[in-house]
Amino acid sequence: MIKKSRKVRDYKELTKALPTMRFLEPESVYIHLQNGRCKTYDLYVKEGDYVKLGEVIGIRHGGFFEQPIHATVSGTVGTVSKKLHRTGRKVDCVEIRNDFKETYHESIVDRTDQAIAELTQDDMVQILKEKSLVGLGGSGFPSYIKLATKEKIDTVVINAVECEPYLSSDYRLILEHPRRVIAGMTYIMQALHVKTGIIAIKKSKDPLYQVLTQVIKGKFPEYDIQVVKLGDYYPQGWEIEVFRNALGIDVPHGELPMKYGVIGFNVSTAAGVYDAIKHNLPVTKRYFTLTGDAIKYPQNYRVKVGTSVKKLIELSDGFKEDYDKVNIIMGGPMMGVSTVSCDVIVSKTTTSVIVLQDTDYEEQPCVRCGSCVYSCPAHLEPVQIMNAVKRNDKDVMKGLGAYKCIECGLCAYVCTSKIHVTDYVRKAKRLIG
Ligand code: SF4
Ligand code: SF4
Repeated sequence: MIKKSRKVRDYKELTKALPTMRFLEPESVYIHLQNGRCKTYDLYVKEGDYVKLGEVIGIRHGGFFEQPIHATVSGTVGTVSKKLHRTGRKVDCVEIRNDFKETYHESIVDRTDQAIAELTQDDMVQILKEKSLVGLGGSGFPSYIKLATKEKIDTVVINAVECEPYLSSDYRLILEHPRRVIAGMTYIMQALHVKTGIIAIKKSKDPLYQVLTQVIKGKFPEYDIQVVKLGDYYPQGWEIEVFRNALGIDVPHGELPMKYGVIGFNVSTAAGVYDAIKHNLPVTKRYFTLTGDAIKYPQNYRVKVGTSVKKLIELSDGFKEDYDKVNIIMGGPMMGVSTVSCDVIVSKTTTSVIVLQDTDYEEQPCVRCGSCVYSCPAHLEPVQIMNAVKRNDKDVMKGLGAYKCIECGLCAYVCTSKIHVTDYVRKAKRLIG
């Protein structure tokens, strides 16, 4: 029985209509000193030091770049301890005990519109580098590197599709701060000398269309910004799919979209660009979804980076079920990482934590139905890759193009036999490097 599908129930009704709850006064924040891209760091402060909001307290080192680390509250530096990162690994975090005074560091000063209008691409790249802005949709890729492109760009795309089920924090961000998003987008357009921009949304998200078109109307006459509605299927938010459907541009695997005259930024990143350029502010807070059928009161939160998710679970009145009967997923349920603990800290790139009631499906043998093959957006043969993994046949894994997998989770979702096919393809990617 072939079950070809890219329709995934979205469960966003749990949170999307609720106003975002602000929780900006945690007693302590725990700032990640390492992350998925940066394994080493230098910490410039020691226990007992006083720091201000937005102050640089250290630097993370990645393969070919560095990321300044900023305090997200003012207060006193505590100890360094291991905390769970959204990647599922424990990493070093430094505690800052909040003094609740929100004392901004002297570097956090607004730029006038005139001063912004005079900024060049190099200036903006430097600002994003100093403010350590990265892809806030979860990629964590340094935004200054993207913005520094020397390719000729024709169109800037803001990806507001948010296709993962349950997630609605981008949706709320746009509804509550559309100007920040659009202004951030125009700064990107200014840097790259681009006049045409697209904000991509799902066609079922009419309130976003209304609010965005209302803000754009007549306010940014020097730019041609369109809101484009895309299909309600998964993974429509995959950047390559967005470019294909919004612009008719097919970016081949392994090539950079910039080569094709298009560049994409997530909606939270666009808002981050606005804060960095307008207010000289690093990412000190973010929108975050805490949801799932096992949480008593699912909610979107606006929180300080470094906030404990445990605290947010308390604010949501905890779990409906006993702790050992739930699945905790960091990120969306399709692409996220399962974890055994909710003792996780919100980092710049933590979009969500989903807590689901535990429904343990027993895997059945593959019935060769082909559903995974027909549904794969990357045109792979997941079942064949899985078989190659079982045989440890790396040549076949390579030949089947396992490296092209975007880990969208769709093959596992549609599998008639409830096999965790994505895990096999993920493993294949790792095995062939
Ligand atoms: S996880 Fe990979 S193999 Fe599976 S459907 Fe998505 S892209 Fe295809
Ligand atoms: S792995 Fe699952 S979806 Fe793919 S062919 Fe086998 S039973 Fe069907």
